[in-house]
Amino acid sequence: MDMVKQIATLEADILNRLRHWGRYSTIDDPRTSTGNSDKESMEWKTCDAMKKELAMSRARETNRDFGTTILEVQWEVAIELGRILAETIDPAIAGTDDVKIEKEDDGACGICLEDLKKGEKVRAMGVCGHKFHGHCIIQWIKRKQNCPLCRCALEPKKYTF
Ligand SMILES: [Zn+2]
Ligand SMILES: [Zn+2]
Repeated sequence: MDMVKQIATLEADILNRLRHWGRYSTIDDPRTSTGNSDKESMEWKTCDAMKKELAMSRARETNRDFGTTILEVQWEVAIELGRILAETIDPAIAGTDDVKIEKEDDGACGICLEDLKKGEKVRAMGVCGHKFHGHCIIQWIKRKQNCPLCRCALEPKKYTF
């Protein structure tokens, strides 16, 4: 994986952990835990150091000044981060998959009870695979983080190296 993607993936992972604080907390001992995000801010500094390192090597290789290459790197990482976050930070998108209905009679949307038509694009729950219209499941997930049919928990996809 190239360096830009690697940094963006790391940043996305930090942001996702902060967002699900408590659920993904890596602090083991509640007595020493202050509930803040020391680990995440450390990792964030690591990302900054990686960007500087990359910018420095680009400056050397292409004979440009560091001021230009660091802006270029920050910009590229921001674009990549945006792309990753679009798929991970929204629980409705992160916990469900894009599915195309392949056959007639593939059942109904568990929320509005309308038949799912062949060729229609719907969202399937990542864990149980139950299918719903995108606009139906998004309304549900805003209130509850589980499957309306079987109640299994919505599991956001994780991006790893
Ligand atoms: Zn529906
Ligand atoms: Zn289900």
